[in-house]
Amino acid sequence: MKCTAIVLAAGQGKRMNSKVQKQFLHIREYPVLYYALKCFQDCLWMDDIILVTGETEIDYCKQNIVEEYGFSKVSAVIAGGKERYHSVYNGLLQCKGTDYVFIHDGARPFVTEEILVRGLACVKDSDACAAGMPSKDTVKIVNEEHMVQSTPDRRYVWNVQTPQIFSYPLVAGAYEKALQGDCGGITDDAMVVEQYGSHAVKLYEGSYQNIKITTPEDLRIAEAFLD
Ligand code: C5P
Repeated sequence: MKCTAIVLAAGQGKRMNSKVQKQFLHIREYPVLYYALKCFQDCLWMDDIILVTGETEIDYCKQNIVEEYGFSKVSAVIAGGKERYHSVYNGLLQCKGTDYVFIHDGARPFVTEEILVRGLACVKDSDACAAGMPSKDTVKIVNEEHMVQSTPDRRYVWNVQTPQIFSYPLVAGAYEKALQGDCGGITDDAMVVEQYGSHAVKLYEGSYQNIKITTPEDLRIAEAFLD
């Protein structure tokens, strides 16, 4: 059984309001991207890692991240695309022949070995799963004027995270189909598999610390998690 991680770091991170892309900003002494790569590197049963970054950041990543920190499981550093789903697709093309792919946002530094273990158990059972946690807030569905249309039962509302984990043929086939269309509104991999792979996706327990670094205050929250 071969497991491959696709770690995504090709986003522009516009909401961070920083010249440096968010995956290269530091949380204490290490760049944001370091933490997730370290988790996949240290996981004994993870076979390899595909790192997807911006075309102009490939050399930087090779030298300043992969070589610098000795991430020997990174088998390729490749260019992503305009949207997240383009980046994922490029990653998928690099890992033909693997059994399970762990698609992970490089901007989520606090993925842990425990999350990976829960995810592996879940994907073996379901072929398609994503990390998530029950929403702490009540969620409202609104219209364009922000008028509330409905309130979903909070017991069934989860916030979805990554890793999102799939059997390779299922996710590769679904992405192949999705990219033949316009892909409008696709924001995660589970959606692609639900819609284009016609396969149910199960959520497994991530953690409330498995946040995505998006805005400046998230960096301060991340530092607090390291205390
Ligand atoms: O933009 P957002 O925070 O949703 O991005 C989630 C993850 O996907 C980040 O780790 C980002 O670097 C990655 N991404 C990517 N290629 C894109 C857009 C986002 O690899 N075109």
